[in-house]
Parts: sequence; structure tokens; C-alpha cells
Amino acid sequence: MNVNDSEVILSILGKSGWTHTEDMAAADLILANTCSVRDNAEQRIWGRVEQFRLAKKTNRNAKIGIVGCMAERLKEQLLASGKVDLVCGPDAYRRLPELVAQLQKGETAIDVELSRSETYDDILPHRLDKSGVSAFISIMRGCNNVCSYCVVPYTRGVERSREPQSIVREALDLRDKGYKEITLLGQNVDSYRYCLSSGELNFAGLLEMVAEAVPEMRIRFSTSNPHDLSDEVLEVMASHDNICKHIHLPVQSGSNAMLEKMRRKYTREWYLDRVAAIRRILPDCGLSTDVIAGFCGETLEDHLATVSLMDEVGFDSAFMFQYSERPGTLAARHYADDVAPEEKTRRLNEIIEHQVRSSARRYGAQIGKKFEVLIEGPSHKSPSDLCGRASNNMMCVFPDTHPGLERKGQFTTVQVVGSTSATLLCEETTRP
Ligand code: SAH
Ligand code: SF4
Repeated sequence: MNVNDSEVILSILGKSGWTHTEDMAAADLILANTCSVRDNAEQRIWGRVEQFRLAKKTNRNAKIGIVGCMAERLKEQLLASGKVDLVCGPDAYRRLPELVAQLQKGETAIDVELSRSETYDDILPHRLDKSGVSAFISIMRGCNNVCSYCVVPYTRGVERSREPQSIVREALDLRDKGYKEITLLGQNVDSYRYCLSSGELNFAGLLEMVAEAVPEMRIRFSTSNPHDLSDEVLEVMASHDNICKHIHLPVQSGSNAMLEKMRRKYTREWYLDRVAAIRRILPDCGLSTDVIAGFCGETLEDHLATVSLMDEVGFDSAFMFQYSERPGTLAARHYADDVAPEEKTRRLNEIIEHQVRSSARRYGAQIGKKFEVLIEGPSHKSPSDLCGRASNNMMCVFPDTHPGLERKGQFTTVQVVGSTSATLLCEETTRP
């Protein structure tokens, strides 16, 4: 999501004459686009700000700005730190040229106003993905859920769905530029809703509209909320070959007591029913999740319920976090962050161990199967191999039989001959 916001920012600044550089020594303005979801994300940003300040020693006129969620959360406190010159929240990016002009007069600048309607739908993002294969499209902004641990509703405001034709236009533009894959982004894509004269368009309708507008491209989406994931979306996925068969379905906990305290609006049983629906309608669908270890009041029994749910479902992969209290959230106001840090770490490690075993099983079960892969380029670990994802989101690595030939962005078919817990080792069955 942040990458896409950075692309919107670059486009807005580009229109007022700014050009993009990665070189801090040459930059007039150094921006950090920030995340506030966990405290360690914010700590890393402070580390980056120190690097920016070092760069200012040789590039004295450079100005430093914080944009995104941390700007929204800390507001004037960031300026008061004396370390940054500009603060701009996620709904104020259109004002960046004005704010930067203020900096040029020697003033500091801040805008952290949240909006009920801003979706940046008329802004064509300046694409940062140099590979030109895969790109993100934001279909909505903000979030109307109030999961008790989560800062997002406070930093990104209320949920707004973007006008569908602007989403389709962006997809067509990406296709024309040679991109092969699109990921539709939202905090809760299943609650996408847009009123058209012909009636209301929901996420299933939007997904179908985009898949049919660019049939030669692959379509992915994230994030699905277990409470809102409908069979209708699964049916649309099943009936369109170009919609990738992968769902990221964050569970957070396997304990009903914790899910209720987290205000996730579903139970363990509901979650397992959604997984059963996925397996029934999309038998080969990849499934990944997010898990939080050590939420407020989590007992050993609650923790073991998470471990047993993970074993029962058998996720392909998971993002796993220790609970990090975020100031201002419902949990911070109402519940004690009372699982000892070392116990949180122990529980997280146990969760990771189970996930690694599950991933190894899931990847191992693919041996012998054939997949269509979209080639991303050379493998990072072994440059004499190529890599790319299968529809189910598993990373496939296979020998580059034609070194020197540009294969990035091509589709090919591979057969799986081996696996690790994060990679399918393959051989190409079609040749360039
Ligand atoms: N909208 C998405 C997720 C957004 S944040 C959803 O509802 O699933 C991405 C992930 O960060 C969450 O799924 C959660 O696992 C994690 N997360 C959010 N707040 C957190 C916190 N306070 N401490 C630890 N992890 C957190
Ligand atoms: Fe946060 Fe919950 Fe919204 Fe996801 S759905 S962004 S976890 S409040």
C-alpha cells in the first residue's frame, strides 16, 4: 500500500516539475513514506531520519519530510523533534507542492487533514517497479473496522471506494505500458462498494470488471477480511483464468476469546468455514495469513488455539508478529499489554516453527505438478536461475537455459521437481 502511495506522491510532485532521484546527496527533498502498524516500523523510520540528517551534512539545502501514517499519528510532534521540515498525512498528498513551496521560503510545513472522499482516482501513479512486470492499484482507502489493536483507522481515516472506471483506466494504462500483473489493494477489499446508476458494484463485480477489461493480465488482490469474504468473490475467481488463485486471509488468532477482544467480527468456526469454502470452490487456491502473538490477556490456552488452527488449516505462508501496543487504539485504552515480552517471543517462535513445518508440507505437496509462471527475472539467490510466481503465489525457481535472452515478463510452464519451505524448485517444460 505504501509503495502505491509513494507512486501517487511522485506523480503529484512530478506534475509540478520535481524529478525522482534515489541519491540523497543530490536530492532537494528527502521523503520517508511511513507505516505505524507496529512500533518497530516507527523505530526504523527514526533510524532513516538520522541517515537523512547525515546526508544533510554534505547536501545542506536538502529538506526532510515524513509522509504517510506516522505523519498522521504524530503530527506536530514530528516538527517539534526539530529533525524534519515537512509532515504530510495520507489524504493531503495533493497539497505537497504547496507545502514544499512553504519549505522553500524557509518555513516548516504540515497538513494532516483526513478526508472522507479523497481516493486520488485521477492520479496515474509514477511506477516505481523497475521490472515493469507487476504493479499495484489502490481500489479503496481507509478502513471502517475498528480492530482493537490496529492504528490504521486513525492514521488512514474512513473507508472510501474508488470510482471503478478510474481503476479500469489504470489497468488498461498498465497493460499498454507492458505490465503483466496487477494487484488490487485495500485494507478490506471485500467491503469495496460503489454506487453506479445501474446499481451498486461490489468487490466481486469490480474484480470481474477488471479481469475482463485486461484478459491478458494476471489479477491479484489483497487484503481479504474473513468476516466479509463472500462465495460470490470465490465464484468470480473460479470463473476467470486470469484471476490468480491465492487469498491472503489474516486470521490474527485461533481463540474466540481473543478474536472477540480484537473486535475481528468473526469466530474460529466462521474462519474455518471460509477456508472450507475456498477449498471447495477453488481446490488449488494458495492461502496465506497474518497472526498476532501475545495480544492483551492471551492465555496459554488461547495461544495453543492459534497453533492448532494453523495446523488445521495448513497455510502456505504467514506474516507473524508479536503484539505491539499502539497509542490511542481501543486495546491501548482498555486492555493491559500483559503478556511478558519474553513469553510473547516464545509464543511467536512456536507459531513460526509450526508455520515453517506447514509451509514445507504445502510446498512439498506440489512436487510433480505443472504451473504457469510469470517470469520476474533472475533469482536473487542464484542468478543463473530464473524466478517467478505460480498463480497460487508460490515462488518458482528454475534454470535459465538461455542466458542473455530477456525473459522477464514472459509466461512459461514449469514442472516442480523439489521444494523448500518458501520455494518450488522447477524445470521448464516449455522452451523460449
Ligand atoms: N487490513 C488488514 C491488515 C492491515 S495491518 C487486515 O485486516 O487483515 C497488517 C497486519 O499487521 C495485520 O493483519 C496484523 O496481523 C498486524 N498488526 C496490526 N496491528 C498490529 C499490532 N498492534 N501489533 C502487532 N501486529 C499488528
Ligand atoms: Fe486494521 Fe482491522 Fe482495518 Fe485491517 S480491518 S486495517 S486490522 S482495523
